[in-house]
Amino acid sequence: MVKFVRSRGLQRPFSREQLAVMVIYPCATLGFVALALCGLPRARLAEVLGPVCGSALVACGGWATCSCLDPRVEGGVRCPCLKKTQQANRPKWCAVCNKSVPGLDHHCVWMNTCVGQRTYPAFYALATAGLAQFGAQSSFGARMLSSWEGELASGAALRALLWLHAALAGLLALAFCALWCFHTHLLLVGWYTGEGIGTFDWLIMRHEREMARQEQQARQERRQPCAARSTTPQAAATPAAAAQAQVPAQSAAAQPAIELAQLEFAVAVEGTAERSPAGKGVVAAEGRGRGEDQDQVL
Ligand SMILES: [Zn+2]
Repeated sequence: MVKFVRSRGLQRPFSREQLAVMVIYPCATLGFVALALCGLPRARLAEVLGPVCGSALVACGGWATCSCLDPRVEGGVRCPCLKKTQQANRPKWCAVCNKSVPGLDHHCVWMNTCVGQRTYPAFYALATAGLAQFGAQSSFGARMLSSWEGELASGAALRALLWLHAALAGLLALAFCALWCFHTHLLLVGWYTGEGIGTFDWLIMRHEREMARQEQQARQERRQPCAARSTTPQAAATPAAAAQAQVPAQSAAAQPAIELAQLEFAVAVEGTAERSPAGKGVVAAEGRGRGEDQDQVL
């Protein structure tokens, strides 16, 4: 059976998140333009609509570029801040799209496509423009409801819609702010360290740190009861010591799960793609069988 390969974002079937973006983004943008045209005097329109429409055009361009291009194709500008992720010999495997993508940063569920080396600049431009657009919409919406209220056309419906817009634009501004801050943080760290990593590599790194932390915690739990036994052997007869003696037994029970998770991760890194211990999130595999490194994002 031939597996379905998703070549680009604008390819059926669309995901629920993708359809939500296709409905919410135009409604939030065109709704604000309509409110400004209906409520504000002409003298204010250029000041308000200029930044919003300019940012919206850039955001739409970024979205269209990411959604129409196939990130599997080599190309794009190699970003020095993502040096490690975009190494030429490390294409990664996307399990959603069933394809290997050069410089894969992550699979974006909102566009239902991979963001790789070819589309990362457009994706970052989209995040920046989205933040600017909804930041401007929130700011202008708040001013229309406060300091510019005297200039607004009359009507309770207009004010109710402005409040509704303020809530939606505020939420979208926060979402774009979180996205932009995260990617800017990765780029800045990459710039300073010279070992730039993208979203997927960051997830792998976090997973490895968590595994190391769990291992260290398990070691400490094993050491503590040994030390207690060697210093106060008679205390084991008390109920408190008996309860303490349960701790190593519990940690010993948890140890196989930790070791299994570590083994699974090690196997994934060595050659075969396996699910992470949590069953979701991150999977890593450097598949050398086909002469290329592969990572999976689920
Ligand atoms: Zn993908």
